[in-house]
Amino acid sequence: MGKIELPETKSGYYEIRLESIGGLGANLCGKMLGELGIRYLGLNSTSFSSYGSEKTGTPVKGFIRYCRQDKEIRIHSPILSPDLLVFFHQALLKDEGACGGVHENTNLIISLDGGQKMPEGKIPAGIKSCYVINGQQIAMETHSRINMVMLGAIAKVTGFIDLEDVNRICADTIGKKYPDALKGNLEGIRRGYEEVRLLELPEGKDAISSDAIGEVPQRGNADREWGYATAPIGGINPKAGSTVAADLSPSRQGYIPVFIKERCINCGLCDSTCPDMVFQFQKGIYQGKEMMVNQGLDYYHCKGCLRCVEVCPVNALVQGLEAEHPDKDYFMPNQELLRSPEGYIKAGPDGYVTSESYLTEKRMEGGEV
Ligand code: SF4
Ligand code: SF4
Repeated sequence: MGKIELPETKSGYYEIRLESIGGLGANLCGKMLGELGIRYLGLNSTSFSSYGSEKTGTPVKGFIRYCRQDKEIRIHSPILSPDLLVFFHQALLKDEGACGGVHENTNLIISLDGGQKMPEGKIPAGIKSCYVINGQQIAMETHSRINMVMLGAIAKVTGFIDLEDVNRICADTIGKKYPDALKGNLEGIRRGYEEVRLLELPEGKDAISSDAIGEVPQRGNADREWGYATAPIGGINPKAGSTVAADLSPSRQGYIPVFIKERCINCGLCDSTCPDMVFQFQKGIYQGKEMMVNQGLDYYHCKGCLRCVEVCPVNALVQGLEAEHPDKDYFMPNQELLRSPEGYIKAGPDGYVTSESYLTEKRMEGGEV
């Protein structure tokens, strides 16, 4: 067991915060990093996760602390000022809480969607370096998951974790339970380790002046659209994966259902199968008859499970790579479920209540069920 030289930090701990979405495996990644510290790096370590309803699409945070073996870890609080901040999906850059607490020694790693070179969101300013990795694409190509790719990338960026030690913890954790999955996961880790790269900023721009760089978000003083006075009754959390601003798109693992409208016979099977109310049926004419017609999909709500593709009897829904369909034909945001306070106000108190029972009631009222 080699002696690890941890970077000097103010707190005396090397602190890693994982920002993720339920379904991407950050919890397991955090646990593996914690165990890795104790078992193979000769360090003291702790790790724990924080998540809400534990369902795909909800925000998840992971916290890992490392320190020398002769120091005790006496704190068990969430990590507010990480030395390494890891985004399992770039969509989380939009969340000021997820970017919070960065400092001049923070390294950032962002998982990009397939083929992208720059993250879509703003990178917090004042950090040490920003690294990117095509996590989703590598995970698909290696038949592993984003968490394994990120594990490899994390090892590389820390500068003190050997690839060999990550492979050992992967064999301990995954190899025992799922031996058939080990090969793909080791490959995902290797590619994460080798392919993570320093973000290439546009020519002539340094890290601070780039258009992609935003202000360092400060906790507590940002202008919020939603607060105790403006949120709808019920105190609904407007962040990704919640009920009002529900955006499950970060949960997708690279695939979407692609709608081929000409083939659709409006049987409604997709609508009754989809767990997330993605399909938008409205009154229309099909084969000369008035009926509910499938107008398209609200991709904000689609988590990419592809159950609708399986159930469609005429292949009007087919599996597609999201990266190959950036514009998403027939993308139709749910007209009932509004995504902003402004929209909410315009539509009145029922605007955000789009539970299945509400919609069913409305259809029944109109004699359409
Ligand atoms: S299951 Fe297929 S054919 Fe039926 S409504 Fe949905 S898309 Fe159209
Ligand atoms: S893949 Fe299909 S069934 Fe799954 S959430 Fe998306 S639209 Fe619904």
